[in-house]
Amino acid sequence: MAEQLDPDCVFCKIVAGAIPATVVRETERTLAFRDISPQAPTHVLVIPKAHFPNAATLAAAEPELAAALLTEAAGVAADEKIADHGYRLIFNTGAGAGQTVFHAHVHVLGGASFHEGMV
Ligand code: C5P
Repeated sequence: MAEQLDPDCVFCKIVAGAIPATVVRETERTLAFRDISPQAPTHVLVIPKAHFPNAATLAAAEPELAAALLTEAAGVAADEKIADHGYRLIFNTGAGAGQTVFHAHVHVLGGASFHEGMV
């Protein structure tokens, strides 16, 4: 399926192969690659190949694709062997929450112990 891309979006450029990324998993409609600025020993981003500005717009338009991000995130955790200890999934949604790339993505963070608070 041809996916909708935004020519000004950095993650769309990664999907198109115009910007390099270290890809760790791929399906027909999702891509998982290592974050360029890792905040934990394992820090992988899982994105839809199609452009949606954030997780909420993705879930509203294509709930099965939103769910596929969670399936792939769990796959990343298994591949990276961080599932037994536990890992954190983060969807920053909106600039006020720290979202800087406006293409839906979930951060998979693991390999470390995180403090108990939410922030
Ligand atoms: O949730 P937020 O929008 O802040 O996350 C965007 C993430 O994309 C950042 O963690 C940043 O390091 C990552 N990034 C990347 N490769 C790029 C540009 C940004 O991994 N080329």
